[in-house]
Amino acid sequence: MADCIFCKIAGHEIDAKLVHETDELTAFHDLNPQAPVHIIIVPKKHIVRLSQAAPEDVLLLGKMQYAAREIAEKLGVAENFRLVANNGRKAGQSVDHLHYHLLAGRKMNWPPG
Ligand code: AMP
Ligand code: ZN
Repeated sequence: MADCIFCKIAGHEIDAKLVHETDELTAFHDLNPQAPVHIIIVPKKHIVRLSQAAPEDVLLLGKMQYAAREIAEKLGVAENFRLVANNGRKAGQSVDHLHYHLLAGRKMNWPPG
């Protein structure tokens, strides 16, 4: 997708601080972190949001979740982290390329804002 910031990061067209990469996924530090650990996990495939994922994306979605588990371990936060997908503008989604936020390193509140 032209003009998609996360496609550009996944395609190494623009820089990001990568923490994990496979042929299907990329994960990098959020530019505007909301916690001491704030990682964005994206599929290399351009999917706009979770509600637009298709049946053939099920394995990819599972791999994104497992990547979160591996990254949390690598960064030493496996015992306490939060995994968030904002789906749609009113839910807080600002970048229209599916991503999970992996947040850790501080006390998390519930319910979220
Ligand atoms: P959301 O608001 O759920 O769509 O999350 C988008 C996230 O991407 C925000 O937390 C932004 O800070 C982050 N973000 C936007 N552009 C970049 C970038 N170029 N590199 C790293 N993180 C970014
Ligand atoms: Zn994209």
